[in-house]
Amino acid sequence: MATKAFDTAPVDLAIVGGGLAGGLIALAARRARPAASLMLIEAGERLGGNHRWSWFEGDLEPAAAALLDCFAQTRWSGGHGVRFPGFARRLEAGYRSLASADFDTGLRRLLPPGAIRTAARAAVLERSGVTLEGGERIAARAVIDCRDFAPSRHLTGGWQLFVGHHLRTRAPHGLAAPVVMDADVRQYRTYRFVYCLPLAEDEVFVEDTYYADQPRLDRAALADRIAEYCARRGWDGDAIAREAGVLPVVTGGDGAAHRALFAAPGVALAGARGLFSHPLTSYTLPFAAENALAVARALPLEGEALARLMDARAAAHWRRTRFYRGLGRMLFEAAEPEQRWRVFARFYRLPEPLIERFYAGRSTRLDKLRVLAGKPPVPLRRGLAALLGKGAPLVQGPLQ
Ligand SMILES: Cc1cc2nc3c(=O)[nH]c(=O)nc-3n(C[C@H](O)[C@H](O)[C@H](O)COP(=O)(O)OP(=O)(O)OC[C@H]3O[C@@H](n4cnc5c(N)ncnc54)[C@H](O)[C@@H]3O)c2cc1C
Repeated sequence: MATKAFDTAPVDLAIVGGGLAGGLIALAARRARPAASLMLIEAGERLGGNHRWSWFEGDLEPAAAALLDCFAQTRWSGGHGVRFPGFARRLEAGYRSLASADFDTGLRRLLPPGAIRTAARAAVLERSGVTLEGGERIAARAVIDCRDFAPSRHLTGGWQLFVGHHLRTRAPHGLAAPVVMDADVRQYRTYRFVYCLPLAEDEVFVEDTYYADQPRLDRAALADRIAEYCARRGWDGDAIAREAGVLPVVTGGDGAAHRALFAAPGVALAGARGLFSHPLTSYTLPFAAENALAVARALPLEGEALARLMDARAAAHWRRTRFYRGLGRMLFEAAEPEQRWRVFARFYRLPEPLIERFYAGRSTRLDKLRVLAGKPPVPLRRGLAALLGKGAPLVQGPLQ
């Protein structure tokens, strides 16, 4: 059967998925190579979906920080806090947060007219272009797949689940700086913490997060917990926006085999789908920004070369993040669920530069030794068994 011809002249780069990874690649390409033609293809009505992405200022190198500076965002320069039973700490690092609505607005302002296609779902990705549902075919010299993460039988781990409410409070809430982890809360036989961002004098974002073996999010239970937490803090108000997340905490497996399942020949793979995340926090922003700059630097290039570039970057990222996968196994397998908070409480007593490098995914050898040294917060034998073990399947049941 003859293949249907493409409907367009080829663009230099077609990006499938207008989330964080895809949007940043488009922006970086536009800034570095204004002459290159782009097409950012997103299934949803808006770029970025319904997310709020946050990061520590130290997570980003200057070029990546400059890329994120293109968007309107909230900045806190006065540090941030953490709380555990019997221990609280204020850390100096500045914090930033970007709402997906501002991501969408920024991209529409900065990308050339015609470079964004929303409400356009890709059905087939090939080295020579993208076929949309409905049959339209967009030709491209290179295609990069930035669709959402999907689990596979090649990964082990657990899940991080959360619901966040953006509240408008009836009176000033009085919170001056972000609290990125308040684990001084009932644990419900899991590791649970609350995350709070003061967005304005009378606006606070409150997110209830827990780690679990299975990706079953009970939104109603989490909404109740948020209400209870707010009542305890004396915050009375209404939710003006909500978000929810079910993110993988990858503790092991075979990253290359996982990627091979999702990669079409000659099509590059990026984003959370390509495993460019921090295994323990599931955050992707620093890696998405670095990848975006690397892709932009490499343009123009053929699809095969772009796919090889991203494979090499993914292999390096997988090697670099091995330590965090081991810690994830310790968290899920060695620590009793009610006691998991102790792992983080102990970690947060370490020097701040080490903590910053940890979140950025740039821990040094000495950092790793310091994280593991001393009296372990988990039973020693179980900790060692978890470190040396393989981890539990990410999803139990039929999978690719
Ligand atoms: C609520 C929430 C909050 C988070 N907070 C943070 C945070 O603070 N910091 C952080 O670093 N990470 C955070 N994360 C983790 C998050 O998953 C990533 O940071 C980030 O969104 C992943 O980027 P991505 O581009 O790989 O995937 P996504 O941002 O999920 O983007 C994938 C895009 O592909 C589109 N798509 C899917 N299929 C198709 C198709 N067939 N055709 C066209 N488009 C398609 C989707 O609609 C989506 O827009 C959060 C995640 C969630 C869910």
